[in-house]
Amino acid sequence: MPTLAYAAATVKRRSRVKRTKRTGGGLLINKTVVPVPGVEIIGCYDAAWSHLSAGDCRPRTCYQGNRVVTVKPHQWILHKTLADDPEVLVAGKGPPGASHKTADYWAGSPLHGGAHLVTGHDGIVACLADLWLVEAYHATVSNRYSVGHETCELVGGRFYEAAAHATIEVCLAGCEALGIQLQTPKKGHYKGHPWKRMLDGGKNCVGIFGHRDNTEHRGRWDPGEILFEMLRDRGVESFDFAAEEDLHVWMDRQRWLNGRGHKLLVDGMPGALTTAALKAEGYRSGIWALGTSRTHHPRTRVRVHHVR
Ligand SMILES: [Zn+2]
Repeated sequence: MPTLAYAAATVKRRSRVKRTKRTGGGLLINKTVVPVPGVEIIGCYDAAWSHLSAGDCRPRTCYQGNRVVTVKPHQWILHKTLADDPEVLVAGKGPPGASHKTADYWAGSPLHGGAHLVTGHDGIVACLADLWLVEAYHATVSNRYSVGHETCELVGGRFYEAAAHATIEVCLAGCEALGIQLQTPKKGHYKGHPWKRMLDGGKNCVGIFGHRDNTEHRGRWDPGEILFEMLRDRGVESFDFAAEEDLHVWMDRQRWLNGRGHKLLVDGMPGALTTAALKAEGYRSGIWALGTSRTHHPRTRVRVHHVR
């Protein structure tokens, strides 16, 4: 669930402009439609209700000197709508309409909160805003850097396999399209508190995280463990982010890339330039975990050791 920052003075209204089918059932990323095979998506403005209210989001921009520039997100933050204790994965698909109801709830609430994406119990995903160009109010300090993705849940922590699988597919496809490296925390990492590195929003934390990783207020079950286990099963790398393992590994990778003629800052943060260098070296979409056409296991090709 998004962290609700403050109460609105007036009730929000979603735009009354007539909407037509625009995205044809895909994610909207920097004005480009990105379909996700096997997942039904109600795209941004594909339905009259499928967009965030102006009070729940803003342009993802900041000032650089006196210029306004668009910021590129480097995190994908997973949420559960209730974060009930514990979590129970239920076979099959659940009742329809949950993504619509969640979007309506945000639009009708006097509080400012909402996420870019909502996966319903039936596995249908609503994309409510451009994932790159729009900053949604879903995770306070990390809003500027992140895409917010809710998975609907029933009281008692129950959520459906159809929803879980759709969330994973959309997360993997969205991260690839945005150039967010496929990496996530190690199994069992959550100790009841966010990492210090995330308290400023996680300027150098790249990857797929949970709402619990940046706030004291949501707890273990926002979003729980199962979605992360599914991501790791799909080949997403895992690091000890609290110990900055990711930074050490990526510094090694940046040195390796520089040895091949690239001129990267060795800072351990795989930003746009590092991703572009990996793409030039044949890595699919510049994502390390996706490997090259020669190997799907890049670790076998590039020896990684930790720099201490
Ligand atoms: Zn949340």
